[in-house]
Amino acid sequence: MGFLQDHVISRREMVIGGAGAAAVIALTGLPVTALGQGASRGKFQMVKSDEEWRHELTSEQYAVLRRHQTERPGTSPLNKEHRPGTYVCAGCGLPLFSASTKFESGTGWPSFWAPLDGAIATSEDRSFLLFVRTEVHCARCGGHLGHVFNDGPQPTGLRYCMNGIALNFRPENAWPAGADANNKTGH
Ligand SMILES: [Zn+2]
Repeated sequence: MGFLQDHVISRREMVIGGAGAAAVIALTGLPVTALGQGASRGKFQMVKSDEEWRHELTSEQYAVLRRHQTERPGTSPLNKEHRPGTYVCAGCGLPLFSASTKFESGTGWPSFWAPLDGAIATSEDRSFLLFVRTEVHCARCGGHLGHVFNDGPQPTGLRYCMNGIALNFRPENAWPAGADANNKTGH
């Protein structure tokens, strides 16, 4: 399938949104060339050179956080993460989302209905030409995280569609190794 067809299908996806769209993307793959180039613009508290980011991040993290690429849906282990805890930026460690706002969107990407206060910033993403999407990036390092859509659940009605590779999960009350077995008789 050629690029043009991919592009048309992806644009239709922007209109219909939701789980059906994810299936379309899963079949076609997102046209990487249609996605934005370069890191998010703006002034951020943490500024590093491209060389430093390349050195610190894995190639997959770098491609998403610093080059706005999108991971393949369904590939992130965080899709199946349901423990209480906090999702932090894989670039700088800033806490971004509480697990209490995570929900099953059916898209194949970790999804949240609200970020932590002040954790993220947004900008217009016009890489799809006719469709303006709202890009979400880390408020501290500017790393690209994903996009936010207005078809999420209450109470916000928002769907923060995140690349799992751009996040690290810190479970709450993580037991030290071996503590779990000892703890079973303790209740
Ligand atoms: Zn960050």
